[in-house]
Amino acid sequence: MSEHAGKNPVEEIRRDEVGEALFPVVSRGDQSFWIQSVDIGTADFPYIEPLLKESFAEWQAQSAGSAPGAEWFLFSHEGEAAAGSPELILRLKEQSEHAGWMSLARREPVQVSGDRHQGAYMREQACFAVPVFTRSGGEVFAVLGCAVPQNEAAGMLRVVEMAAAHFRTCFYQRLEYSFIYDTLYTRQAGASELGGDSALFRMVRRLYDKFNVDGVLEELLRIVLVLHPAARCKLLMTQDYQSSNPQLQAFLLNQHDSDICTKAFMKGSVEVARIPAPNYSERIEAALPLAGHQGIYGVFHFTLDFPPDRLDTRLLGMIADTAGKAFENAKLYEQSNLLIRELLLINELTKRLNQNLQLSDVFSFAIQELVGIFRAEYCCIIKDNPAEQRFDVVACSLPELEGASFSRDYGFGGTVLRTQEPLIISDYLESDMPSRFMELVEARSMIAAPLISNGKAMGAVLLAQREHHYFSYENFKLLQMLSTHIGLAVSNATLHAELQRMANRDALTGLHVRRHLDERIHAHQLEGSKGSLLVIDIDRFKQVNDTYGHQIGDSILQQVSGIVVHSIRETDVSARWGGEELAVYFPETALEEALIVAERIRCTVEEETRPGVTVSCGVAEWAREDATISVESLFYRADMALYQAKNSGRNRIRTAVAE
Ligand code: GH3
Ligand code: MG
Ligand code: MG
Repeated sequence: MSEHAGKNPVEEIRRDEVGEALFPVVSRGDQSFWIQSVDIGTADFPYIEPLLKESFAEWQAQSAGSAPGAEWFLFSHEGEAAAGSPELILRLKEQSEHAGWMSLARREPVQVSGDRHQGAYMREQACFAVPVFTRSGGEVFAVLGCAVPQNEAAGMLRVVEMAAAHFRTCFYQRLEYSFIYDTLYTRQAGASELGGDSALFRMVRRLYDKFNVDGVLEELLRIVLVLHPAARCKLLMTQDYQSSNPQLQAFLLNQHDSDICTKAFMKGSVEVARIPAPNYSERIEAALPLAGHQGIYGVFHFTLDFPPDRLDTRLLGMIADTAGKAFENAKLYEQSNLLIRELLLINELTKRLNQNLQLSDVFSFAIQELVGIFRAEYCCIIKDNPAEQRFDVVACSLPELEGASFSRDYGFGGTVLRTQEPLIISDYLESDMPSRFMELVEARSMIAAPLISNGKAMGAVLLAQREHHYFSYENFKLLQMLSTHIGLAVSNATLHAELQRMANRDALTGLHVRRHLDERIHAHQLEGSKGSLLVIDIDRFKQVNDTYGHQIGDSILQQVSGIVVHSIRETDVSARWGGEELAVYFPETALEEALIVAERIRCTVEEETRPGVTVSCGVAEWAREDATISVESLFYRADMALYQAKNSGRNRIRTAVAE
């Protein structure tokens, strides 16, 4: 191999920036780089046959299908077959004038047709051959040709000339790669460890510079492709690992024992298998364990169709080893970063969750945070409803699902509630569980975790994404951790709401207490336009107590309260105002309408209570235009009206005169 531009490539490679420039230049084919001047001379010709074979294979792979029906072949500078199907080579060599036209082809493009040649094969076929020249010396180092059916021969010579130019590019690309390899190898061979100034060292250092796992693995693939450009590579990773790179795959340990990847993984050693190949001498398969200090993370597997005579497994093993350690570093770095991020996140989330004591606020805040943290498209929180054997969607990023209710054994939500275990679904299409949530958004990935309170799943969080295999194992673990905190916040808010409810309710009747009624009237008087107040007093209740005892008295109070609650709207506020006196406030309701409700209550009490009692009622109203608007004045007038009702014979309703 000679080098024509007068620069010493080894000197060049010492320059610090070369380590950085090497890959981009080689992969982009940048014309300005010194390596473009690397060439072969006639002295190299006897040694280039493997390179010719490799380049031919690569060129064929790149130009597959460009001339259908053509059978391609390659001859060396001496007219020896270097590549092509063995039958074709044989047929060509059987031609009586083979040597003649081959030596002609070494000077200029030739077309050989059946007209001039008597071989049976050539009568139906046309054959083309074009010389391929070195880029600096202009010597012919190979002849590329093809055989096509006679009827497709028109214009074919031009096609073969273009093909030869393309093949030449492929050849030089490979030459450059092997030159780099040789340089590296020579430099490497001298040093027992990776020398501080070797180009390989710089490549490998780039591995260590990658602080992300993806970067390390891609760098490894890149290095191996520089050493063996025709290698077909894949990385089999044992870790739960996601990448968009199709060369990174999951390593399944149930693979067959004799599989070299399994061997490399089990023994932690470089494994090489040589397999006889039909069209060329042999194929090499190699498996390199990707080992770090703490374990083996996967296996790097590659196949070479045209292996070099000397496959440097030691060098490859060393690169795999370095990559394994770099992978481990990157992994640890990612893990510690993740841990820090998680801690910060949990801290922030709990702080903010606990600021929200309203359950609905907790839910909507949790949804908003989860969607952000996991970059998920959809989120949904469900709450168990054991009384009805169902669960309810209490918050959802999809309005269609909010408030929906499902049978307790339905879908992923039901599963999480039942098992109290988290779930990860990589591809919904492969799952046989029906899920309205997943189907509504055509999602394929999902993670879900239970919301635990007092050791029981009282709800669940579900996150979904349209892409499959979207959520990582880390996501899954993080959701589990976050849902513990969301569960606590939900418990807190539920307890708070329950306490609030209890503080505002009367224990015997379940109605609001008077304070709550006062507050509600006051609040409404500040912003509303009108309202009516009804006060209800059980007639001769002392007698009921005296006749039947206090327990029956209590029951009468509960019956009357029940009738009141069922007679009013949800927006009306009922309360136990005093001992056996109840009250209802009707916001935005005029006296006449309140009277209708009062009459309904009076009748029902008379008809339905057992033992039967009656009630007397007083109704008063307020309106925005009144001179005085106050809770006390309203109560006072309603009370006056009640007093009149009692005085005029009981079991009747009286209204207060307006102020
Ligand atoms: P009227 O209102 O028709 O004038 O006669 P009344 O007998 O209802 O008169 P009053 O308001 O003086 O009596 C109210 C009675 O209600 C007195 C009290 O014993 C009884 N009471 C108050 N709270 C309760 C309660 O929680 N349970 C029971 N069983 N009785 C109660
Ligand atoms: Mg009374
Ligand atoms: Mg009474």
